[in-house]
This record gives sequence, C-alpha cells and structure tokens, in this order.
Amino acid sequence: MRAVVSLNSGSSSIKFALFTLDEEGAPGLSAGGKIEKIGIAPALAIHDASGNIVHTRAWDDPALTHGDLLAWLFDWAAGHLEGRELIAIGHRVVHGGMDFAHPCRVTPEVLEALEALCPLAPLHQPHNLAAIRAIIRIAPDLPQIACFDTAFHHDRPAIATRFALPRALHDQGIRRYGFHGLSYDYIARTLAERDPDLAAGRVIAAHLGNGASLCAMAGGRSVDTTMGFTALDGLVMGTRCGTLDAGVVLHLQRRMGMTAQEVEAMLYNRSGLLGVSGLSSDMRTLSASAAPEAEEAIDLFAWRAAREAGALAASLGGVDGFVFTAGIGENHSDVRARICRRLGWLGIALDAEANAGHKPVISLPGSAVTVRIIPTDEERMIALHTLALLSATRA
Ligand code: ADP
Repeated sequence: MRAVVSLNSGSSSIKFALFTLDEEGAPGLSAGGKIEKIGIAPALAIHDASGNIVHTRAWDDPALTHGDLLAWLFDWAAGHLEGRELIAIGHRVVHGGMDFAHPCRVTPEVLEALEALCPLAPLHQPHNLAAIRAIIRIAPDLPQIACFDTAFHHDRPAIATRFALPRALHDQGIRRYGFHGLSYDYIARTLAERDPDLAAGRVIAAHLGNGASLCAMAGGRSVDTTMGFTALDGLVMGTRCGTLDAGVVLHLQRRMGMTAQEVEAMLYNRSGLLGVSGLSSDMRTLSASAAPEAEEAIDLFAWRAAREAGALAASLGGVDGFVFTAGIGENHSDVRARICRRLGWLGIALDAEANAGHKPVISLPGSAVTVRIIPTDEERMIALHTLALLSATRA
C-alpha cells in the first residue's frame, strides 16, 4: 500500500492531508489537519476521514519554525502510515509565472526559478517554498511535486492576460496570471461529475475565503478571472484591497511619503475587510458586530463581488451557472444572498430556504442561472495532480 501527502504551507499555518491509495491507485483521505498560529503559539488539530478530531497539540513556543513543525509532522505521518510507503509530497505553490503551466517535480533548477517569483506573491510563495526546502532536508530522496495556483488559468484567451501597458512589459511577464487555480480545477471536475450539462456551459465560480476571487469557466476551462499579476487584484479580501486605481499607489508614495514597503504592507495586510471595518478581517466576526463599519465592509465585499461577476458575465457572453466555494462561499448564507440579490438581472433567483440550509443547489427551479455550493478541496486536487505526474513519468 502506498500514500501521498498534500501540503499547503502559508505564513502562519500549514494545512496537510494524507491520502492512501487503493488497488487502482485512487487516493482516499486517511487523515488531514492544520497547524495554526505559527510564530505565536503553534496549535495542531488532526482529523480523520470523517472530519472527527483525532489528535490535538499546542506548543507554547513562538520560535518554532515551519521546518521544525514539518519535521514533527513527518514523524507523525511515519507513525500513521503503518507500513505504507510514502511515495511523494505534493505542494501548493501559488505562483508558476509564465513557464509553469503544469505541475512539475521539484529540482534545484525548478526551486531557483520559483524563488524568483517570490516578489509576485509575497504572502504565499516564500512559505510554499520554505516547506519544500524543509522536506529536502528531512527526506532528500522523496519526490516533491509543485502544483501551481496559476496553472488552471494558463491557457485563457490571450486578451484576458494583457494589461494595457507597453508591449515589452507583457513579454517580460508583467501580465495577468490568475490564482486559486487548484480550487477552480477541483470545482470544475466536481461540477462535471454532479451536473455535467451545467459544467459544459458558462459558469462563474466564486472562491470566497480570506483570499477571494472569481473565475469564469466555459466548458470547465478558465476564460477569465479576477486576480491578475498578483493575488492582490480583484475582489475585496480579508486584508487585501482588491482592484485599486494605480494612481492611489503613486499618490501614497509621491504625495504622502510612504515607502514602497509601507504601501505593500498596507495593501496586503491592512486593507480589505479589516481596513474598511477597522475591526476584523474575519467575515464571521463582522457579521456578529453591530458596528456600521462592519456592515459597510460586508456590503462592499458583496457589491464588488457582484460587480466583478458582471464583468465575467461579459467575458463569457452570458451565464448558466454560479458556484460558491471556500470559507465564506460555503458557509455564509447572508453574503451569498447579498451577492445573488445584486445579480438578479442575470437571471439568478435564489431559494432562500435552500440557501439558509447550505444545500448543494440554492437557486429556485425556474432560475435562469443554477446556483450551487461545492465545498472546495485543494488538498485532494494536489494529491490528484501529484499522482497523475508520477504515473506519467513512470509510463
Ligand atoms: P483561507 O483563504 O485562509 O483558506 P477560508 O476559506 O477558511 O480562508 O475562509 C475564511 C473566511 O471564511 C473567514 O472570513 C471566515 O469568517 C469565513 N467562514 C469560515 N467558516 C464560516 C462559517 N461557518 N460561517 C460564516 N463564515 C465562515
């Protein structure tokens, strides 16, 4: 029996999942979990395949690094494998730039090329790569597969990748890439299983978590998306501003004396829901607050999502389906209702009861657009890509 591990290493958290393979080589979740609050007081929770918590642990040590915790996780996985062979680790890597259109095995050359993309995804890429380096130290011979959030968008029509900037910059890679591709890939495949007719049509998928974006899919392939050169573009997010007039950045630096680093920190870490509300980046916290600023932040989030959905509807030439996913998309009925209300003109008619109950289909039977909730599973997508690459290289 064999197994693969998926890792999604972020700034203060590591999400992981252990999949064992059946006789046909199909992955089944064996255990998964998350280490949070790295750098403060790391806390671990591991759940079994049914989602029941089977192990928790807290470390009262802010000095523990991602590498230390991965070493702990590796030991835990070795104990949990019960004789099964760990054949590879798949990683979420946020930015694949112009060159990485598919998952690939990590080599020293690949690692160097991905390193060069760190400035384009400063919140994520350095932590993704730190996990890869830590595993090289722990198990140098274990195959590691990088799975890119940009890859699903790689073959969009060229017009959707271009900024209206001088041509030379586009050729140098200053272009719109798009992110959350592992999530959208999973949504496209799952929709094709559950509702093949809808999957064959024009669908807007909304990945609404701490990071948030929309993807326009035609026949299951990305044709447009709201994120661009970096994961800062598009929707209002937990702490990121989303689409911003570039003139604001110039003004902050030239007239208000902010340095580039200060502007970067503000746009990535102190804007979005947190910046507008002045309270929190967490949608649940804002919903529970009576402060008018919290209400304004939620309303702006929904308004901007609906406005961008209108833009993607134009890219698609109409919309047949709308899919909500990720923390807010899967769980927050009020935000879903606010977005759908603003998209009534597209032909969306929400079933209030189904929406309140988080049912798989939340539109009314007569709705011109079918609205669904599909829980995303980026870890499973990473495992599927990892296994596909291993079997392609073995073949
Ligand atoms: P990340 O991008 O970090 O993976 P998630 O997909 O976990 O983020 O989404 C986090 C967001 O989802 C937060 O704003 C949180 O408030 C919201 N959220 C998570 N669970 C719920 C829930 N049960 N009800 C409402 N909102 C939720």
